[in-house]
Amino acid sequence: MIAAEKNNTIAIKVAIAVPLSRVFDYLPGEDPDCYRPGSRVLVPFGRGSKVGIVLGSGEPSVDISRLKPVKALLDVEPLLSPDIVSLVEWASRYYHCPIGEAFSAALPVLLRKPGVSQPKPPLSYKITQAGINLDIDSLARAPVQSQLLQFIRDSKSSVTGGECRLFDARWSAPMKQLIAKGLVETTAQAYPLEKPRPVFALNDEQQAAATAINNKLNVFYPSLLYGVTGSGKTEVYIDVARRVIASGKQVLVLLPEIGLTPQLLSRVRSALACRVEVLHSGLNDTERLLAWQAAVSGEASVVIGTRSAVFTPMPKLGFIVVDEEHDGSLKQQDGFRYHARDLAMVRARKAQIPIVLGSATPALETLHNTDRGLLELHKIENRAGVAIDPVMTLVDSRGGEIENGLSRRLLAGMEEVLARGEQVIVFINRRGYAPVLMCEECGTMADCNNCDAHMTVHVRSGRLRCHHCGAENRIPSTCSACEAQADKLIRVGSGTERIDEFLSEKFPDYKVLRIDRDSTSRKGELQRHLMMAASGEAQILVGTQMLAKGHDFPNVTLVGIVDADRGLFGADFRSVEQMGQLIVQVAGRAGRAEKRGAVMVQSRNPEHPLLDKLLAEGYGSFAKYLLEERRQTAWPPFVHIALLRAEAEPPGVARNYLDEVRRMAGSEDINPQSAVMVLGPAHAPMERLAGRYRAQLLFVCSQRKPLHQLLSWLRVALEQLPSSRKVRWSLDVDPHDML
Ligand code: ADP
Ligand code: ZN
Repeated sequence: MIAAEKNNTIAIKVAIAVPLSRVFDYLPGEDPDCYRPGSRVLVPFGRGSKVGIVLGSGEPSVDISRLKPVKALLDVEPLLSPDIVSLVEWASRYYHCPIGEAFSAALPVLLRKPGVSQPKPPLSYKITQAGINLDIDSLARAPVQSQLLQFIRDSKSSVTGGECRLFDARWSAPMKQLIAKGLVETTAQAYPLEKPRPVFALNDEQQAAATAINNKLNVFYPSLLYGVTGSGKTEVYIDVARRVIASGKQVLVLLPEIGLTPQLLSRVRSALACRVEVLHSGLNDTERLLAWQAAVSGEASVVIGTRSAVFTPMPKLGFIVVDEEHDGSLKQQDGFRYHARDLAMVRARKAQIPIVLGSATPALETLHNTDRGLLELHKIENRAGVAIDPVMTLVDSRGGEIENGLSRRLLAGMEEVLARGEQVIVFINRRGYAPVLMCEECGTMADCNNCDAHMTVHVRSGRLRCHHCGAENRIPSTCSACEAQADKLIRVGSGTERIDEFLSEKFPDYKVLRIDRDSTSRKGELQRHLMMAASGEAQILVGTQMLAKGHDFPNVTLVGIVDADRGLFGADFRSVEQMGQLIVQVAGRAGRAEKRGAVMVQSRNPEHPLLDKLLAEGYGSFAKYLLEERRQTAWPPFVHIALLRAEAEPPGVARNYLDEVRRMAGSEDINPQSAVMVLGPAHAPMERLAGRYRAQLLFVCSQRKPLHQLLSWLRVALEQLPSSRKVRWSLDVDPHDML
C-alpha cells in the first residue's frame, strides 16, 4: 500500500500529558511507519500544541475526517526503548494513572518540551597532583573545601557540579578556591579510570548471597538481602555489579533520596572504576538530561538514582538493586502514584535479569512475598568486620523522673558515654520546640486556622508553625481567647529544639548538634551536618529520622529513642511497622566500629507486647507478629487496597461526592457480588488540611483482578462525572498510608 492510501485509514495513537485516561488519534504527516512507539511528536491540542509519545498506530476511534494531522515528528529514532514504553504502559494500567501523565513523569523535564537539545556537557572537576599530595587537615578552617577535595580525591574519576551539590548547594565558590589553589582542575573529559580498588574478602554470609545472584545473571532472579545495618549489603551489591559490568552490562541502583550520599557515590566509583551517573532531586534539568543520556547511550555502566530513575532507559541493563526497599519515599505520593520498588520488580521480570531488594527492616509485603516463595531470601545475621549488635533496653518513662522528656536513666547513660569520649544520639521524631502552646488560664491551645492541628512552637525563629500546611505567625504575647499574658502561655511537650536547648545547658562541656528539617533546610546542608556529626565535632546529636538513615557514626555508642509511643498509637495501618523500622534503623547507627553500642527506648507503655517483641527478639519476630495481625484483620498484604481521596473547601462536599461514587461502585453490573468491598466514605484522619475538608473511600479485595476491573471502569467514570469538578480527587493503588 502506498503511503497516501495508508494515511487515509490509519491514525497515530498518542499519549498526551492530560488528566484523561485515553490516547489521542492524529493523522500521520508522512508514512505511518515512521511513527515508531516511543518517539515524541508535536501535536495540536486545544488551542495550542503539546508534545506526546507515540504508542502505535491503528484504526481511528472517531471518524477520520475529524482528526488533525501531527505537526512534527520530534525523534527519528524512538526516544524511549520498547521495554520502557511497555513498563510505563503497565504502570499506567496498574496505578490507574492516565497514560500521558505517566509518560510525562518518566521523562526528563527537558524532553517534555519540543526542540531538544544536545545540552553542552558541564565542566567536570578532577584532582591535581598537588591535590593528591595535600594534607587535608590543612583545610580544616574551610570545611566545604576540605569535604569537596576529599570527595574528588576518593571518587577516582572526575565529578560534576550536580554531584557536588549532594554536599552543599553553595559548592561553587569553595570549588573556585580549590581551583585557584591548584588542588583541583577542570576537565571536559572523564578522568581516566583507575583499576578498581581491592575488595574485602566477603564473609561467608555475604559470599553466599553474592554467589547465589552471580549464578543467576541471565534470568529473572528476585531476592531479598536481609541484613542489619552495617552487615555489608553494599559490598554484596558491588560484588555482583562488578561481574555484570565486566560482561558489558549496566546496573541500576534505586534508593531513597537520603541514602544517596557522596560517600556512597565515591565508594561505588572506586570499587567499580566505571562511569557512574546519579539521578537525584538536586540536579537541574540539564544535568538530569545529561545523566539520562549517558544511561541511554550505554556510556554509563551504573545509574544510582531515586524513585523516578526506575524509568531510565538502559539498553544493556543486567542487574537492579533497590536499597532500603522498605522506605516510604520509594512510593510517589502525588500525581502518578507508583512504587519504584514494585516497578523495578516488573522491569526485572520483563528484562529477565536479577533484582535484589536490600534492607535491615524489610517491608511487611516484602517479607510476605519471601514467605510465599516469590523472593529468595539471603540473610546476613552478623555485622561485617568486627562490629557487634547493640544492647537494647526499654526504659519506663512513666513517673516523675523525667526532665524535658528525657528519663534519668537515659541522662545517666549519656553522662557515662560522653565521659568516655564517645558520642550520643538522641532521637525524637518531632521538630520545633514544643508541639503545643497552651494558655494556663483558660486551656486554649494555639491551633492552625487551616488544619485540624495544633501549631508547633519554634522558639529560635519566634514563630508558630503548622507542620501540615506551612502556615505561620509570630508567637503571640497574649492568649487569643482570654488575653492572659505571655507568662501564662506554656509550651507543652518537647521537640528537637527544646531537647537541644536542654542538653546544651545540662552538658555545657559538650557540643550539641541538631539535625532536623529546620536546621538543614538548604539543599546539601544535611550532608554537611551529617559529616560534622560523623567527624566527632559534636558529641551529642539530637535529631529526627534524618539521623536514622544512610550514615555511619562509628563513635556513637548510645542511642536514646525518646518517643517510641507515638508510633504505637499512630493513625495509620502502617504506623507500628514504621515505628519498628525507625527504631531498628536508628539503633543501627550505634556502635558500628569496634565499640559495642547501647540503645535505650523510652516508653510509657513498656509492657506493650510489640515493643517487647521488637527489643527482645528483634525485627524478624516483630514483623512476623505484625503480619499475623494484618492477616487476621484482613489488611495488606493479605488483601489488595486502593484509596480514593477527595477534598474540597466547603465542609461536606468531598463526603457527598464519595457517597455518590460509592453508590456507583456498588451496582451489580460494575461490582458483581460485591467482590470488591467499598468502605466509607470516612473523613481523613486529619479531616481539614490547608483549608480543605478531606474524605476517603477505600476499596478492598482479596484478589487483584476484580479490584482492577472496578478501578478501570471507575477512573473513566470519574473523569466524566460532573461532580468530579467540584472536588480534588485522586486514586491511590497500594497506598503507602491513609493519612
Ligand atoms: P550495609 O550496606 O549493610 O549497611 P556496608 O556494606 O556499608 O553495610 O558495610 C558496613 C561496613 O563494613 C563498611 O564500613 C564496610 O566497608 C565494612 N565491610 C563490609 N563488608 C566487609 C568485609 N567482608 N570485611 C570487612 N569489612 C567489611
Ligand atoms: Zn495548617
